Amino acid sequence: METRLERTKQALSKHGFDVRLVASAAEAKQAVLAEIEAGQKVGIGGSRTIDTLDLVPELEAKGCELFWHWQAETPAEADRLKKAQLTADVFLASSNAVTEDGCLVNIDGTGNRVAAMTFGPGKVILVCGQNKVVSDVAAGIERIETVAAPLNARRLNTGTPCGITGSCNDCDSPNRMCSVTSIIKRRPKLTDLKVILVKEELGY
Ligand code: SF4
Repeated sequence: METRLERTKQALSKHGFDVRLVASAAEAKQAVLAEIEAGQKVGIGGSRTIDTLDLVPELEAKGCELFWHWQAETPAEADRLKKAQLTADVFLASSNAVTEDGCLVNIDGTGNRVAAMTFGPGKVILVCGQNKVVSDVAAGIERIETVAAPLNARRLNTGTPCGITGSCNDCDSPNRMCSVTSIIKRRPKLTDLKVILVKEELGY
């Protein structure tokens, strides 16, 4: 795994991403906090990884304004927060898969997360546990369809086939979570996109 992570770090760096490899979630948390200035507007995408880091108390203590739809009490409020994420100073999320040849693979139902990753916020920080590392884009999509989507389906009780069988049948469910596929092959030109790779399993 150490070798895979180093190889992934080098490939991402070659593709223009600013990459750090850290030993633990605690170290990742400090690395994220060091990137955010007091009073900045911070958007948070739907991310079990970011949720696990428990960044909110420290960000609030820094006087940051947070846009995190997981804290919304109504669908209308969630919609407002997702739109606000697109113009935040900093956007925090993870990636569904990180390839050893230097790409970031993500699939969204709504598309707000993948939109904010590529344009809008000047700085994007993606925290990715070692469990997100795969060989290539095809393996990344397979990971999403057989690992991330089934676990998300069970968490959200979507009733989609992946949550029941553990595999994807390219469903037509109204709750389908896979409408938009994003493959980021190089750093988007106007976005300071940072990837923090963590030598621990984080999120899914
Ligand atoms: S397309 Fe449907 S079945 Fe396949 S992973 Fe997405 S939600 Fe699950």
